[in-house]
Amino acid sequence: MMYYARVEAVTLPALSCVALCGGTHGNELSGIYLVQETLKNKRKGEAMEAVTVVTVISNPRAVQQRVRYTETDLNRCFTYAMLSAPVSERTPYEIIRSQELNSLLGPKGSGQAVDLICDLHNTTANMGLCLITYADSDWICLHICKHLQARTNDPYTAQR
Ligand SMILES: [Zn+2]
Repeated sequence: MMYYARVEAVTLPALSCVALCGGTHGNELSGIYLVQETLKNKRKGEAMEAVTVVTVISNPRAVQQRVRYTETDLNRCFTYAMLSAPVSERTPYEIIRSQELNSLLGPKGSGQAVDLICDLHNTTANMGLCLITYADSDWICLHICKHLQARTNDPYTAQR
């Protein structure tokens, strides 16, 4: 006896605005390079985008100093509590920056927020291309990962 899985067509929602973020950690150069190159191509008019792409150097102070962060890890500053925390002269730069990014790309969880944020990082481990998504049920991110895996020359990533 043979069983057949029922396959249903899946319609994905259209993305209208995507954020491309580099430099969340100022010493991770790949994302910084990609954001800078994307901006150059936009200025030259070479970027033909089907969606609006917002390019952001997430932590410009850390990028300028070539350090991971200047006062606290920006990657840990996107909780709702930190995003709504009052600001004083003693507030770490990265918390202030997270609130600026939340205004630019969000507000987080709202209908005005960008549809997708691609936050590009590096690692010092020799692990090739590493793709991380927040949920294994996010079909858009899974399709993006599949697309990137198919186009990479990294045999380790391509085999997965
Ligand atoms: Zn990082």
